[in-house]
Parts: sequence; C-alpha cells; structure tokens
Amino acid sequence: MACLKRFLISLALCFGLNVQANPLELIEVKPGIYGLIGPMEQRSPENLGNNANFGFIIYEKGVVLIDSGGTLMGAKAIEQQIRRVTNKPVTHVINTGGQDHRWFGNHYFVQQGAEITTSSDTLNDQKARGASEAEKASNYTKASWLGTEPKVATKAIAKAETFNLDNSVEMQIIPVGPAHTGGETFVWLPKQKVLFSGDVVYVDRMLGIGSQSQHLAWIGAFEKIKALAPEVIVPGHGQPTNIAGAEKDTYAYLLFLRKAVEELLDAGEDMSAAAKIDQSKFSYLQVYQQIHARNAQRVYEEMEWE
Ligand SMILES: [Zn+2]
Repeated sequence: MACLKRFLISLALCFGLNVQANPLELIEVKPGIYGLIGPMEQRSPENLGNNANFGFIIYEKGVVLIDSGGTLMGAKAIEQQIRRVTNKPVTHVINTGGQDHRWFGNHYFVQQGAEITTSSDTLNDQKARGASEAEKASNYTKASWLGTEPKVATKAIAKAETFNLDNSVEMQIIPVGPAHTGGETFVWLPKQKVLFSGDVVYVDRMLGIGSQSQHLAWIGAFEKIKALAPEVIVPGHGQPTNIAGAEKDTYAYLLFLRKAVEELLDAGEDMSAAAKIDQSKFSYLQVYQQIHARNAQRVYEEMEWE
C-alpha cells in the first residue's frame, strides 16, 4: 500500500502535479459512505485544525458532508478528499457539535450553495462559544488560520428528523443534547446501519471532559447509540469502530471515572485526590498523559453539585 502511494506520488510529480500532504485518511465504511479520519494530536498549522474525524455520504444529486473542518484550509482539505471519489456538489453539511473543527469550514461550503443543518442545542453552543473557540483555534493553527470565517449553521432542528436523500439513502439527524459539548448531534443511516457519532464517541484516544462537558448526560447520550444498534460507528476521533470498540474506549471510561470519583466523595476527599485516581488501565489511549487528571477533576467538580 505504502509502495503504491509512493509510486502514485512520483507519477504525479513526473507530470508536474502539485501533491500536497492531506492530513485526512479516506475510508469507505459502506458503499458510498466515507469516513475522513484525522490526526489525534492537538491542532497545529500542519493539521489545519482538522484534528478530528469528518465524513460524507454520496447520494444521487450530491454529497452530504458531516462536519466542515477547523479552518478554511481544513475545509479545502476535506473537499480534496471528497474529489478523489466524486465530482458531485456538496449540497448539505451537518454539524455534529459546537467545537471548532465541527463547523469552522461552514462558510466555504455555504459559498458553494450548501445548506448547513444542526440541532438547536449545537447551534446555541456555536453562538455561545464561537468567538472563544476561534481565538483558541487561530493561536494553534497560526498561518493555516488564514481566511477562516466561523459561520454558524443555517438551519437547526429541535428533534430527530428524517431526510430521504434519494431512494437508497435515508438519513436521520438526531439531536442528543449535552455530552462532550453543550449539544451533540448524530447522523444516522438506518438502512446501512452507519452512525456518525460526533464527539459522543472517542476511540484510540482518551476523550476530553472539559468545562463545557456534562459527563452524566454524556453517558445517557452514549446509551442512545446502543438503542440504534449500528454496525459501523464513525467516531468523533479515532478509527471507525463498532459498539464494542466504542464501549471499551468511551462508555467504560466514563462509567469508571464516575464510580472512582463517587468513592472519593463518599470518603470526604477533596478535588486534589481526583487527579491521583489510578486510571492506568486506560493508559493505552493516546493523549492519556495530557488529559486524564483534568478529566477526573472535571467529573469531581460536576458530581460535587449533584
Ligand atoms: Zn472533538
């Protein structure tokens, strides 16, 4: 595979084509349904703020894009990967969450005529945190921030809606309420049993529980996935997976933290003890070192008020 890639690159160079490194890995999870798997490290000028997953669905008249990238250049990198498999226009973009990389490329696709749909909760989150998210993202991405104009979704839905894109593709947009951010949104393809979960599912890297997160609601959001019974989950971060993979890296971790913090509270321990909880059984997850202690403290902060 690597050999073939090298051959294609050298072939392209022979013909004078501009070969740019694209930080996204293109994976067809079912016929016509793709995941774009981004790197797991922090936002950087090199990854264009696309340190997350995206995806797209090809239907009769066009392409539905799931999440639009962390910068204008990130949106163009997404489009470049779409163009490897189809020339159809991007007619719809769905934003699964209010975090920067879910929607900072919206403007680019609106200019091409796309309608941007999300849930009301996600739209509220985009409006509330857009400016602070933009400031952080521009600091991380530096020169790659150039030209980025955060633009919130153009359409919001309050409850699950079904869109019949054509005879073979039925798509449901399902608001799931707060979890990683103030409002997450699923994209569900019931016929193909593919779920784009957004940041309700992290695999391969440790999920982040920030000041905007609600861990108990997150556990509830995850349980909605079990009811759908997807065959393939394209998570917010990490490789495409199934229910078992998602449970292992997301659900089990959330339940583990909640139980460990509950024990500290019962013993009358203060928040500094939360940072010392032994989380080593999840140390195989990427960014564990940077994030695990903070996650526990955030859960403690929330549980103190329950
Ligand atoms: Zn994310």
